[in-house]
Amino acid sequence: MARRPLIAGNWKMHKTVAESVELVQKLRESLSSVADRDILVAPPFTVLAVVAEVLKGSQITVGAQNMNDNVQGAFTGEVSGALLKDVGCSHVILGHSERRQYYGETDALVNKKLKLALDVGLTPIVCVGELLREREEGKTFTVIEKQVKESLGGLAPIQANKVVVAYEPVWAIGTGKTATPAQAQEVHSFIRKWIERLYGEPVASAVRILYGGSVKPDNMDSLMAEADIDGGLVGGASLKAEDFTRIVRYQAVLSARAR
Ligand code: PEP
Repeated sequence: MARRPLIAGNWKMHKTVAESVELVQKLRESLSSVADRDILVAPPFTVLAVVAEVLKGSQITVGAQNMNDNVQGAFTGEVSGALLKDVGCSHVILGHSERRQYYGETDALVNKKLKLALDVGLTPIVCVGELLREREEGKTFTVIEKQVKESLGGLAPIQANKVVVAYEPVWAIGTGKTATPAQAQEVHSFIRKWIERLYGEPVASAVRILYGGSVKPDNMDSLMAEADIDGGLVGGASLKAEDFTRIVRYQAVLSARAR
């Protein structure tokens, strides 16, 4: 089954209003002719509205990097899914390793956010990935299995169909060490098998699984040639228009992909 690729840029805690506008104006122009893949930028909360405004009418969509696990209320400093929808977001990244590592987010919390995101019509991008120590101890698949079961569990198949998963080995994020295409493919295929166990084959073959971890213009082509890699979640390289443009315009031989 053909899955439409998705390339998402996670800006993390970077870019002022002026810098954001400049970046998305460039991307709007440089990516205007790209029609066969989905493109997303995920800027900080402070610039979501202005970025959505600049991108209105383009094929580039806007997502947030996190959301709160409550519908609304007295949660000072937090942002709900409905508020993200209101400023023009279509997607939300959930359970990024930096949120798990620095803010103590657990699989249970990610699962709660996932359900709320789906309830308000946001497409969740749920991140999973092992630490370097876990890989070295041969625990990669145990860790990924737990994260997939607990972060992604408890949905109706019709909801699961809409979820995007991002495999981001923590040792590859912001380190310049990319997983090899074969290492990534091995885990992507494992994740897809688990989605099949949870939700059945039609859902498993429809769900997009992105790779994240030091994706750069010079490694995206080979990653995208793998059968189960359906796009990228790009951190550092999404902050430069030229690099992100080249990544979005990857040149994997799509017809060679086993789909
Ligand atoms: C990320 O933030 O999700 C990420 C993969 O970062 P980087 O591309 O910089 O490794």
